[in-house]
Amino acid sequence: MKAVSVIFNAAFLREMNFLRKIFRIRWFRIVLLSIIIPFILFLFLNVIFPLRINIPYSQIITASDGSVLHAFLSSDDKWRMKTELNEITPLLKKSIIEKEDKYFYWHPGINPVAMVRAAFNNVVEGKKTSGASTITMQVARMLDPKPRTYGNKFIEMFRALQLEWKFSKDEILQLYLNLVPYGSNIEGVKSASLIYFGQTPEHLSLAQIVTLAIIPNRPSSLVIGRDNDKIVQERNKWLKRFEAEKNFPEEEIQDALTEKLTATRQAVPQFAPHVSIRLANSFPSTPIIHSTIDRSKQEKVENLAYNYIQRIHYRGITNCAVMVLNNETENVEAYLGSADFSNENDEGQVDGVRAIRSPGSTLKPYLYALAFDRGLITPKSVITDVPANFSGYAPLNYDKKFHGTVTAENALANSLNVPAVKVLDELSAQQFVAALKQAGFSSVAKNENKLGLSVVLGGCGVTLEELVRLYSSFANEGREEKIYFTDNTPEKKKVSSSLSRTSTSAIARKQVLPFGEDSGGALFSPASAFMISQILTEHERPDLPENYESAMHIPKIAWKTGTSYGRKDAWSIGFNKHYTIGVWVGNFDGTGIPDLSGAEVATPLLFDIFNSIEYNAADDDWLRQPKDLDFRLVCSVTGKVPDDFCTDLVMDYYIPGISSNAKCDHMKEVFVSADSSISYCRNCLPESGYKMKLYPNLPPELISYYESENIPYEKIPPHNPKCTRIYTANAPEITSLNDGMDYIFENKTGQLALTCNADNEVKEVYWYVNDKFYRAAGVHDKIFFTPQSGDIKISCADDKGRNTNVKVKVTYLE
Ligand SMILES: [Zn+2]
Ligand SMILES: [Zn+2]
Repeated sequence: MKAVSVIFNAAFLREMNFLRKIFRIRWFRIVLLSIIIPFILFLFLNVIFPLRINIPYSQIITASDGSVLHAFLSSDDKWRMKTELNEITPLLKKSIIEKEDKYFYWHPGINPVAMVRAAFNNVVEGKKTSGASTITMQVARMLDPKPRTYGNKFIEMFRALQLEWKFSKDEILQLYLNLVPYGSNIEGVKSASLIYFGQTPEHLSLAQIVTLAIIPNRPSSLVIGRDNDKIVQERNKWLKRFEAEKNFPEEEIQDALTEKLTATRQAVPQFAPHVSIRLANSFPSTPIIHSTIDRSKQEKVENLAYNYIQRIHYRGITNCAVMVLNNETENVEAYLGSADFSNENDEGQVDGVRAIRSPGSTLKPYLYALAFDRGLITPKSVITDVPANFSGYAPLNYDKKFHGTVTAENALANSLNVPAVKVLDELSAQQFVAALKQAGFSSVAKNENKLGLSVVLGGCGVTLEELVRLYSSFANEGREEKIYFTDNTPEKKKVSSSLSRTSTSAIARKQVLPFGEDSGGALFSPASAFMISQILTEHERPDLPENYESAMHIPKIAWKTGTSYGRKDAWSIGFNKHYTIGVWVGNFDGTGIPDLSGAEVATPLLFDIFNSIEYNAADDDWLRQPKDLDFRLVCSVTGKVPDDFCTDLVMDYYIPGISSNAKCDHMKEVFVSADSSISYCRNCLPESGYKMKLYPNLPPELISYYESENIPYEKIPPHNPKCTRIYTANAPEITSLNDGMDYIFENKTGQLALTCNADNEVKEVYWYVNDKFYRAAGVHDKIFFTPQSGDIKISCADDKGRNTNVKVKVTYLE
């Protein structure tokens, strides 16, 4: 231990001797005093007075081609747009450097030669020149403007050194280009380029660049549009100087010298206002937001929608919203929040793409897709369309008519309500609501406990954006897609992930939520997606607009319309392989219009937009039939696998292993007497004198419907009156009352209706109130009675001894 410290001490002394020796050398002292000490002093001051740069930029929203769609004033009310490094062309760079600071790339922020020359001019020649200011010093001054004193000049020099210490030369030049003043509230080359020349800096000519290079020296006396002649004189003076110094090819200079200057101040672009505002709010600290909006499609949609609403405005229909989604990239290519942003009377600033509205029938395709995947139905499955009561919910069709029976595909193509509710009842409303949640329907998710069977007829809230997203899944084999509003560069990803990291704060949540949840996965199978797309492509549909002449020319699309209750919302959502387009038409104040309907009012605009965007799309460029889908022959009466008695067969799609393989039961064998007047069961079958006959096997609700509408059908003869068998299955179903319901009457004249559905062999039923016989009735009779208040038990027994009870509570208000 001791030995070590001795060695250390010896080494230390040797070192000190060396330093002392070296310090005696004069040149070393000069270096130390002139470079090292100032440098250490600079580092020290740099820590004490750190450089803080906080430039409030004007936010710019660019279109997918990089052009500026929309710009917002900065927080200090300036047009100060950020120029990106890739927008600074070599020509721009060279012109600015030649004019402002030839040795920019050689000095450390301060140019000692220029300073000595300026000082000499000031003192000896008595001239005032400012040539000593480097680009870096000008940046320092623009970042923190101060009166021109020698003290402030010193601070400027210090800040210039700091800038050089912190940034690269190109970044300093970028700061310069972003801050140079152009008079009024215009700052930076990009703002000036856009406002005076209508383009971004990378497209400027040499003459335009030199014009923009000279104005910052005298921004108030050289105003483009007012002093153009003076500007051209000044510009050409500099061009001639460049010519003399041979900085640019002679031809370029000659071209630039003859270029006319006709520019005047133009309005800042204000396209796609709704999506621009939305993006600006979502990424508040991003100066340039690269949106996915396709400029030409956005313009087409804006024009079509504006003109369309102008045409129908007299009918009291004042607004619309449109969203165009590219199915291949999932980029939002057009976004129209209202027909006319500037129209305050019609609340043009409301963003209809995000407004929560009733979906009408637009959720039905999703329901049928889920039902296909659960094996509940196939396109040719036959569903009854008759008055029905689902635990107190009795839906009506749009045309208030019933059709007896329909296939699932017709029910969807014609948007029938009763079959949809029937399918939903089978799937369960709870499952459907869960599926809607999975598909990103946020208002449905919020209200999930309040929603029931009416969801599929529009009894919930959705946004146009959510619907467009859902429908794009049909074009994408059922995959649940995240949709993009901004380009998907790593920089943007960083922005969105930093938002989600802080998503616990209310503001951040507001920013993240508008873009929906990204849970990936599939909503339904490729087979279901394909079947639904085929059904929605049918052109012979009632929701094809009347007299729509161009319907024959539209590209092949699948679409679904919707009209909300009270005719407040007209929807039409369509898709083909390339695009999903959603259209909403209505009034933001919620006024219903008697002739507002999805088919008549929203579909024409949808077709117009498809026509203009996809005019040349080939019809055969359609979705391909997936491998997990196959064909089979089914009985046309039920859509089930045919039995021997099925004669009329049709081709149907089905999903092997998923779709039901149940055999058709549209006929049933019944033993009847030789004259077909009495039917028998195995219990009462006589030894002879009978035959077996096929009768239609109709569901009870269809029999009730046929009876009430006097529609003839083949009836099974009454059952053998001498039969002693006790029946248990197929007890009558009470259809007019719901078990456990409260019935409230205003006064003592209240009446309860008694109706039932019974097995088709039943002729008569017997009604009981609180276990006391009330009266006998025909199966299809509707009878009434006035109940006592309080709990009541009502029973219905049929002539086979089968019985059903319901318990209800009756209250009289007076
Ligand atoms: Zn059949
Ligand atoms: Zn019998």
